[in-house]
This record gives sequence, structure tokens and C-alpha cells, in this order.
Amino acid sequence: MALYGLIGFPLSHSLSYRINNAILNRFGDHYVAFETPPEDLFAVLSSLKTLSKGFNVTIPYKKSVILYLDHTSDEVRKIGAVNTVKVEEKRAYGYNTDYLAIMNLASGKKISTAMILGAGGGARAVAFALFNLGCSKFFIYNRTKEKALSLKSKIESWGARAEVIEEPKNADVFVNATPMGMYFNDDTLLDFYTKGNYKTVIDLAYDINGTPLSRFAKDYVSGIDILIEQAALSIEIWKGIKVDRKDMRSALYGNKG
Ligand code: NAP
Repeated sequence: MALYGLIGFPLSHSLSYRINNAILNRFGDHYVAFETPPEDLFAVLSSLKTLSKGFNVTIPYKKSVILYLDHTSDEVRKIGAVNTVKVEEKRAYGYNTDYLAIMNLASGKKISTAMILGAGGGARAVAFALFNLGCSKFFIYNRTKEKALSLKSKIESWGARAEVIEEPKNADVFVNATPMGMYFNDDTLLDFYTKGNYKTVIDLAYDINGTPLSRFAKDYVSGIDILIEQAALSIEIWKGIKVDRKDMRSALYGNKG
């Protein structure tokens, strides 16, 4: 029996718990969601480094947790965000399976230009994956402009071109890296999306019943696909086994998947 966990704040909307716990239970392991207010972060991380074999990290700690790790993968250092930590002999190793998931799900698509909505950790992970898949020009729009400027600098540090824009630009891919379409239907998202032309959509927002973007896009990588892929990759990192994605999907949807 091993303990795995999830830390974030708040955690009420997370579907990660459902799929990870269902799969890990089959091995006799447990996956526990630790809703962690900022004042408890250090104590919870110290406990997980002692008691668990690994944990996922979600909003708002994907950047700050890096400081507490003993080792980080190349992608974590390049992106500046971690979502999966493996613990071995009380040492913590950080990975970014959001990035690895997009590498797997978008490989084979011809993407040279990207229009990214959002500028947080998820946007960075998707941008770095697209960059590694050959994307060389990024347009960024974010509600808070200074964060868009920070993502632009990050992308330029990899050697690609980036522009912060006020109006949507046509591109090969449209990336929604905000919660819009997830807990709430916000017309801003569809207004923005329908003003441009895109061959494909990568939507980080997820909803078991489909997000607004899923009804418009012709070629679509859904937030559910990304959720399943990044969770499967996390379990593969922790346990060194191959995880069946269909099993993960069934764990999420019951027998409707
Ligand atoms: P984050 O670092 O907290 O960034 C959130 C981003 O969304 C920021 O750009 C923020 O803009 C923007 N945003 C938040 N609320 C908004 C609103 N009401 N209207 C417009 N923009 C808003 O979070 P993240 O890790 O990048 O995650 C972004 C979204 O992707 C979350 O919903 C997360 O659950 C989802 N996600 C899904 C997966 C998956 O497996 N499907 C993986 C990673 C992330 P400001 O800078 O202006 O605050």
C-alpha cells in the first residue's frame, strides 16, 4: 500500500482525484486530496515527502512548489511550473505532465502559429510543448497584461517569437488556457474565438458534458483528453508501469466512457 496525493487550494472542482484514486486503488494504493491553504503548504509538503510516494500539484502552487524540490526535470526548469512530484527516499523529483500530455496529444499536427488565451502555468506548459513540436510564432491574450508580457519573455527565452495582442489573430491552433467554459459560460471566450480562424483547438478547460469550444471546433483536443493523459503519465512516473488510457476514461465516466 502506498500513499499518493494532490495539493491545491481550493480543490472542489478537481476531477483528478476521481481518476487517480480509481486507478491507484487497483494496486492497493490510495490517492488523497489535500486542500492546502497557503499557511499550511510547507507542513503538507514536508509530510508528503516523508509519507507519500508522490503527489500532484495544482492551482495555485505549480510555480511555488518548485522551491521545495530536490530535483527538477528539464521541462520544469524551462516552463517554470511543476504538476507531478515523485518521492524516493524522502527526495522530491518534479515533472510537468501537462507539457508531456500536450506533446503526446498534439504530435503529428502541423502547428507553426498559436493563439493562446491565458498566461498561467497551463499556458506555459502548452506553449513549451507546441514550441518543441515546431511552433515558432505565438500570439498571447490575457486578462492581466503583465502576465501576458511575462509569458512572452518566457517564450522568447526559448528562441521563438511572441506578441501580446488586444484582438484575436488567425493561427494554426487556438489554445484556451483559462477556466473559461469550465465552471461558468463566459461569452468572452466564444466572442474571442469566433473572430479568428484556426485549424485546431487545444482546450485546457474541461467539463464532462463538453465545453462551449467543443461545440465549435473541427479538430479538438479536449481538456478531458489532457486530464486523462497527464494523469496516466503521472501514474507511469510514480509506478513505472504502463497505464491504459481507456481504463482512465472509464474511471472518469463510469461505463458511459
Ligand atoms: P493559472 O496559472 O492560475 O492561470 C489561470 C489563467 O486563467 C490566467 O491566465 C488567468 O488570467 C486566466 N483566468 C482565470 N480566470 C479567468 C476569467 N474569469 N476570465 C479570464 N481569464 C481568466 O492556472 P493554469 O494552471 O494555467 O490553468 C488554467 C486552466 O486550465 C484552469 O482552469 C485549469 O483547471 C485548466 N487546466 C486543465 C488541465 C487539464 O488536464 N485539462 C491541465 C492544466 C490546467 P489572469 O492572469 O488575468 O488572472
